[in-house]
Amino acid sequence: MPEEKKNNYIVSVLVPYPVDKAYSYISPEKVGLGQYVVVPLGGREVTGVVWAVDVSVEDKLLKKLKAVSHIYSDLPSMPDGHIRFLEKLSAYTMNPLGSVLKMSLSAPRAFDPPAPITGYKLANTDSLNPKQRQVAAVMKEGVAYRAATITRRAHCSASVIKTMAKHGFLKEVIMESDPPCVDPDFNHKDIELNEAQKKAASILLEKTGFAVTLLDGVTGSGKTEVYFEAVTQALKLNKQVLILLPEIALSNAFLERFEQRYGCQPALWHSELTPAQRRETWRAVAKGQSKVVIGARSALFLPYTDLGLIVVDEEHDPSYKQEEGVIYNARDMAVLRGALDKLPIILVSATPSLETIHNVKLGRYEEVKLPARFGGALLPKVHLIDMKEEREDAQHFISNTLKEAMDYTLERGEQVLLFLNRRGYAPLTLCRHCGHRYECDRCSAWLVEHKSRHNLQCHHCGYTVKKPTNCPECNEADSLTACGPGVERIFDEVKELFPDHTALILSSDTAENQADLKTILAKIQSKKVDIIIGTQIIAKGHHFPKLTCVGVIDADLGLAGGDLRASERTWQLLNQVSGRAGRAEDPGHVYLQTFYPDNLVMQALLSDKRDAFLEIELEAREQAFMPPFSRLVGLVVSGVKEQEVMHFAQELAKVAPQTDQVKVLGPAPAPFLRLRNRYRYRLLVIADKNIDIQKTIRHWLGQVKLPTKLKLTVDVDPMSFL
Ligand code: ADP
Ligand code: ZN
Repeated sequence: MPEEKKNNYIVSVLVPYPVDKAYSYISPEKVGLGQYVVVPLGGREVTGVVWAVDVSVEDKLLKKLKAVSHIYSDLPSMPDGHIRFLEKLSAYTMNPLGSVLKMSLSAPRAFDPPAPITGYKLANTDSLNPKQRQVAAVMKEGVAYRAATITRRAHCSASVIKTMAKHGFLKEVIMESDPPCVDPDFNHKDIELNEAQKKAASILLEKTGFAVTLLDGVTGSGKTEVYFEAVTQALKLNKQVLILLPEIALSNAFLERFEQRYGCQPALWHSELTPAQRRETWRAVAKGQSKVVIGARSALFLPYTDLGLIVVDEEHDPSYKQEEGVIYNARDMAVLRGALDKLPIILVSATPSLETIHNVKLGRYEEVKLPARFGGALLPKVHLIDMKEEREDAQHFISNTLKEAMDYTLERGEQVLLFLNRRGYAPLTLCRHCGHRYECDRCSAWLVEHKSRHNLQCHHCGYTVKKPTNCPECNEADSLTACGPGVERIFDEVKELFPDHTALILSSDTAENQADLKTILAKIQSKKVDIIIGTQIIAKGHHFPKLTCVGVIDADLGLAGGDLRASERTWQLLNQVSGRAGRAEDPGHVYLQTFYPDNLVMQALLSDKRDAFLEIELEAREQAFMPPFSRLVGLVVSGVKEQEVMHFAQELAKVAPQTDQVKVLGPAPAPFLRLRNRYRYRLLVIADKNIDIQKTIRHWLGQVKLPTKLKLTVDVDPMSFL
């Protein structure tokens, strides 16, 4: 039908694949910018987003255009602000635009037709009996609820609802689903802030347009309560709010707290959701129904319709950096989003990152302080244990001083946390006879013994072998020796030293999912266990009232390796771990076992020399022309054959920009030369912050052709240099 052809619209559609631009399609119907559509692509049907309309193409190409096969007209379009955000993020991080879009379409079932659910609305409230009045009390006029929600809130049985429906008190309606956090009640709980909190909150509440505020306060100072005030303000304006948390901190404790304050669960977004939950939340956010989303970094990519505030809790946390696939830093991208949409951004931490502190100094961010714990609770007292003097032998890791402190704590019926950020039994296993070290076949890394599983594991690729009885090199029997401690080994030592006390390990091996974690945390909370041996999983946000003693087995652990942020990270992590001690009425004690008691980090932790420490760190970074005074970009070339990788990395270096404002170092073999069977070489760009480094790099990379067998990863603002 040739007449109809004239009515066709030409649009370009971005697809969620590693492509840099949108492709043109013909659409029989008018479609708008941002609409979700299905298009044919290489023999498949894929969901994409209309990225441009009224596109002009040459006549000869017109004939070749394929047609949009479906338009999701029941979903609102992706908002303009979100589209601009994805474009800017792609440009800044140098990830292909299509890959960035994919992050926003990470709920594949969101596009399936809705499964109908029967819900109820309040219809008539005359002459209710008491039970029925209870039901009416939990329902808002005009809002549809699922039967399960009503029975839970009103503590009634399903038959009450049936009867009410029969008598016309409730009206049956077809609901698409029960979107989360539609109607948070900001009057649910009144909270009385103390003077410092009030002052902090009032500054946060002043911010309406784009402004970044650092809420900087010691653990337990009530930072959450304070930023909830800003959340409330945004809710009063009927805006959506995003609260970002490190994945691990998305524990029930936080959610319960939210529910106590707002009378409903927040919408959740993290890696453990079921496809059905992802669908529900994604759609409810896209439709503007869900008001508060609490999520891990990827929650930044939900298609908010009317965002009014972003909070980044624990802003210094390295897990905000996504290191695989699309490499980006969620904290920085939250600020980008704020700048684009003119939103206030609140960064929250007890130990802010140097980047953020630098931005405060430059006047770009405002700082709001909460100097003391809420309710007069004292900060824990820190003690340094000099292991040069106290270390007894290579097989034991708990010093006498720490043991005595543990004795004292346990006698009083309180809990002890021993912190060691190392999973497994021992980080290295070797043969006592020939010195053979167990290394992964596929990575340049040692295998870690896991006693509980009777195997050796690679923590990088997941490779495991059963622990052999004979050395595979010299065949000597029973010659394998563990070197250094992991949490399992500390557990054995604890059992030996405190046979009458209960102990457990909390690591990603014992708490593999949120449910396990919840069980273990509940055990600790209800004091079913006396001694907890934990990795960094324990450090975040948990509140254990009976925990009054923290022992850090190896406070020096994070200082090794010479990473740019080694000192900063150690200070942050140990501060956070220390914050677990004595959060309630009992003051806490923290014991740091170190071989370097004079180290600046240990001294900063010991007495509150935080500001001096940060000054010295900043000065060292400035001297070395390192971030936050310069910008780094890491490039990693990887491939199966080392020769090819090295060769290409050298070719890259030959045409590298070298100016007054840009230096390129390398190539050098990566510290983990091999990972998952691939060899890796690194180059590092150090650039003046005032230049458009992305443009420089694009130009540079445009001069070489990447062999198909190799992969080149670009990491803007790298956190990891492995
Ligand atoms: P932070 O996030 O700074 O570690 P929290 O917000 O978790 O601190 O507060 C620590 C504890 O003190 C929590 O149990 C919290 O409920 C309580 N708290 C803080 N401020 C108040 C307040 N104004 N009124 C009542 N309880 C408060
Ligand atoms: Zn491996």
